[in-house]
Amino acid sequence: MPRILILGGTGEARALAEALDGVPGVEVVSSLAGRVRQPALPPGRVRTGGFGGVDGLTRWIRDRSIDAIVDATHPFAAAMTRNAATAAELCGVPIVVLRRPEWQESERATWIRVADNESAAAVLPSLGSRAFLTIGRQGVVAFAGLDTVWCLIRSIDLPKCAMPPRAELMLSRGPYTVADETALMRRHRVDVLVTKNSGGEQTAAKLEAAERLNLPVVVIERPPLPIGLSTVADVPGALAWIASLA
Ligand code: NAP
Repeated sequence: MPRILILGGTGEARALAEALDGVPGVEVVSSLAGRVRQPALPPGRVRTGGFGGVDGLTRWIRDRSIDAIVDATHPFAAAMTRNAATAAELCGVPIVVLRRPEWQESERATWIRVADNESAAAVLPSLGSRAFLTIGRQGVVAFAGLDTVWCLIRSIDLPKCAMPPRAELMLSRGPYTVADETALMRRHRVDVLVTKNSGGEQTAAKLEAAERLNLPVVVIERPPLPIGLSTVADVPGALAWIASLA
């Protein structure tokens, strides 16, 4: 019976666990980092918390006789993906990365592409004075020194770091509609949006809303994947990869 480890924390990871739930001959363990207070849980077995780096993960994979790994973590969870790739190689276990496609800049959009949160914070004062930060609570610290830009910060849980001095916090979880995102940005007189290029439909509405309002969008590019890793773009792709292991 193949035992599959799904590295999760995304909707795709949950959808994959749902698709495999009850499939005869397949055993699944989903793994969550434990960052979110009330995570949306996948069906089946779930473990929570870090593994303890490459060594811990290697031990964990060997102890549980894992046969295959699907890394369905968020595109910005680069450390987990790096560790998983190394541990899989050390254990001789096949691994695939489930990576949803990136968002693409449309003709009517104005994107300013940057490499990371720090670069986004550096470029922000030249683009606007009222920013909408949708970069997750872990990224907020990079904006803490911004004193000339007011920030609307949206995250699922409360940031535990230093915050920009002029900021309003909004705790919420997607999905969002274009109408709601447009109304939100209008209400707060937002003049620049900051986002990671997360991809996916759940949180894409902000991009269309920014386009409608003619706002520039600072887009943080994805960290590169470790060289040589196989990828699939969606849950059917991951299921086909799992089927190909038999
Ligand atoms: P990260 O920086 O790549 O990972 C840092 C450490 O957290 C890893 O080395 C690992 O600890 C632990 N970890 C991460 N994902 C894990 C998982 N699925 N299961 C068990 N341990 C995990 O990750 P991150 O950016 O903090 O993201 C944490 C989680 O939130 C991920 O599962 C990701 O899918 C989800 N998420 C991230 C973002 C984002 O923007 N980064 C957005 C939405 C959801 P050890 O070294 O101790 O094993």
